[in-house]
Amino acid sequence: MFDKILIANRGEIALRVIRACREMGIRSVAVHSTADADAMHVRMADESVCIGPAPGTDSYLSMPAIISACEITGAQAIHPGYGFLSENARFVQIVEDHGLTFIGPTAEHIRIMGDKITAKETMKALGVPCVPGSDGGVATLDEAKQIGRDFGYPVIIKATAGGGGRGMKVARNEAEMETAFRTARSESKAAFGNDEVYIEKYLTTPRHIEIQVFGDGKGNAVHLGERDCSLQRRHQKVFEEAPGPCISAEERAKIGKICADAVAKINYIGAGTIEFLYENGEFYFIEMNTRLQVEHPVTEAIFGVDLVREQIRVAEGLPMSFTQDDLEINGHAIEVRINAERLPNFAPCPGKVTAFHAPGGLGVRMDSALYAGYSIPPYYDSLIAKLIVHGRDRAEAISRLHRALNELIVDGVDTTVPLFHQLLQESDIHSGDYNIHWLEKWLEQNNP
Ligand code: ADP
Repeated sequence: MFDKILIANRGEIALRVIRACREMGIRSVAVHSTADADAMHVRMADESVCIGPAPGTDSYLSMPAIISACEITGAQAIHPGYGFLSENARFVQIVEDHGLTFIGPTAEHIRIMGDKITAKETMKALGVPCVPGSDGGVATLDEAKQIGRDFGYPVIIKATAGGGGRGMKVARNEAEMETAFRTARSESKAAFGNDEVYIEKYLTTPRHIEIQVFGDGKGNAVHLGERDCSLQRRHQKVFEEAPGPCISAEERAKIGKICADAVAKINYIGAGTIEFLYENGEFYFIEMNTRLQVEHPVTEAIFGVDLVREQIRVAEGLPMSFTQDDLEINGHAIEVRINAERLPNFAPCPGKVTAFHAPGGLGVRMDSALYAGYSIPPYYDSLIAKLIVHGRDRAEAISRLHRALNELIVDGVDTTVPLFHQLLQESDIHSGDYNIHWLEKWLEQNNP
């Protein structure tokens, strides 16, 4: 059993992990950059270690500094949160080589899923439905054009090493292929140092549906239903909900079982998310994230489980505390991601928070590292709070979101809160009738 865990992250997710540790009687170690000396995760942890200067590459991404912090404090395990080193197979290897435990999947699982072509081939072999497309990488323009003809336009060219929506280009016809193919390759080379691309049929009106899976590393795995994360801006999720408004219990059980069986077969350990595009009743695998997701709280709300606690348990070699039969959906949950950004352009807006009041009450959860007087540093992600609401049904969750947003006070910096106030006036949001393009189109016509 661990008695001390180091959290290799910052912000709300570091707090999230510290809270789970505290409930389990485990001591927590925060690491921080010089810019984060006054951050909430440092104040809340039992101990803290400064691991470098402000830029993430010199601190939160510095493997030697993080390993040294474990050695200095005697932490036995590292929780990576999301982002930073959470999906870095080399880091996992180094952690293990130092006799420490990485709270997450194995280096091998991360490697397989980090390469999108390998991930797709693996999933296909495990019986998971995938988007039709090229078999592996596409090296030449002629090959790309042939695939366009075979599958029919539009197609999407995607970076094998992709992430964060970079290196992705749509070609609507053969004339567009040349530019799209070249741009995807050069963007991919610039962002990931690898210009390999592959091609998929472009789905025109899909929803983004992702399945939460959880494995014990010993061949047992469960699914915890889906999250609908279709409301996206520039491929970044802004509003997530569970269960998905358009997914039936039968569909959930079917795709959930396919996913749980797939990860059980590869002895997956810990939390994972299998992402799909969903169109006309069909699921198409796009990628697997081998970590806890930003939006995990909506799943926690409807199933009444603590996913971080489970991650820690399985990392200790314990079984999960639930079986598939124990997992029953209760109500509906919605999360909105609140960023320190100035509308309408979403320009990052770091600075001093002069007043802060978090909403509360029944069914309201606020995961945030803000406090009054805190200065949001300019070096990191602009996510400052996640507001999660839970109701008996979707309508109640929406009213609760409205009520909670009205209670929230963040003064001193601009935030994306006004966007959510406006979205809650849209009938499509109330009816759950939206796909992955809805928000971009809405933003073109509205000025939040
Ligand atoms: P990344 O890892 O860069 O985020 P993903 O493969 O997860 O890339 O895709 C990100 C987003 O791009 C999806 O949520 C969806 O909006 C869009 N997308 C990806 N593949 C397709 C496709 N075949 N058809 C339509 N949209 C797609």
